[in-house]
Amino acid sequence: PFDVLIVGGGPAGAAAAIYAARKGIRTGVVAERFGGQVLDTLAIENFVSVKETEGPEFANALEEHVKTYEVDVMDVQRAEALIPGEKLIAVRLANGAVLKSKTIVLATGARWREINVPGEREYRNHGVAYCPHCDGPLFKGKRVSVIGGGNSGVEAAIDLAGIVSHVTLLEFGAELRADAVLQRKLHSLPNVTVITQAQTTEITGDGKKVNGISYTDRTSGESKHVELEGVFVQIGLVPNTEWLKGTVQLSRHGEIEIDARGQTSVPGVFAAGDVTTVPFKQIVIAVGEGAKASLSAFDHLIRSSVD
Ligand code: FAD
Repeated sequence: PFDVLIVGGGPAGAAAAIYAARKGIRTGVVAERFGGQVLDTLAIENFVSVKETEGPEFANALEEHVKTYEVDVMDVQRAEALIPGEKLIAVRLANGAVLKSKTIVLATGARWREINVPGEREYRNHGVAYCPHCDGPLFKGKRVSVIGGGNSGVEAAIDLAGIVSHVTLLEFGAELRADAVLQRKLHSLPNVTVITQAQTTEITGDGKKVNGISYTDRTSGESKHVELEGVFVQIGLVPNTEWLKGTVQLSRHGEIEIDARGQTSVPGVFAAGDVTTVPFKQIVIAVGEGAKASLSAFDHLIRSSVD
């Protein structure tokens, strides 16, 4: 069996693997896609100490670093079930194999919920963005739209309003769903237009990049079009925890509940990164959380076993 088995090969999983391996303990990583969300990222300009890099390059560097240690990397493998046990915890893979370990670090990350309209996939990274902290500065002085009037959409609009020339916030419902304090701040900004009852129908472009957004006014049924250079889709981040329902405690958003040490509700099972309740989903945060979860797993090992 492994001492630490990490599920997920994004920044959190990679950091957990390096920290575990450096303790000289048996370490394994199972990942559906080593690199994680970073593989879908173009420019990364906020990983502290790296001025600028690209997603795939960063993912390669993660893998290179992990591979300098004795880590059993099982890439292109999907975990399907977590089975807690007395001494060993098991992880069942989609291919039927069952891996056993004394401790587990869950780092299966999250995915942005897509709006699923024409133009979204086509112009992803060419005007369509999901992370204002990451991509906001790319739209300096330009016009953007934010789709979604929940907390993340309104926070994004407030954040972007300080960088871009104008923000159009589109909300499907009759009212914004964000906290009142955020709504007050939003309405105080001169360069933000809020449109409710707006059903986004298409993100338009010139074949290379975004040039506008179309929506239907749900009260009048009229079609409208706004010219702009960027669209931020903010309708939710979905944690990859479907396979964990009924084993570890999840928040109402489906995120794994962790304490300050990364411990989950199941002894010996730790979690890190975007899949958890940790606030702010960023690479630099996921890396720190992965290191922390791994150190907690090591601490658990030295306290619990004599063999
Ligand atoms: P992830 O990166 O999501 O990795 C999860 C890992 O788990 C993957 O290897 C996945 O294949 C694996 N996995 C999932 N389910 C299973 C399963 N059942 N079995 C086995 N393996 C599984 N952050 C920044 O700091 N700066 C940026 O510029 C930036 N830009 C971004 C741009 C885009 C387009 C996106 C989508 C995100 C961006 N982010 C950025 C956010 C950043 O990518 C995430 O915060 C970070 O990747 C989270 O790391 P993680 O390891 O927690 O999860």
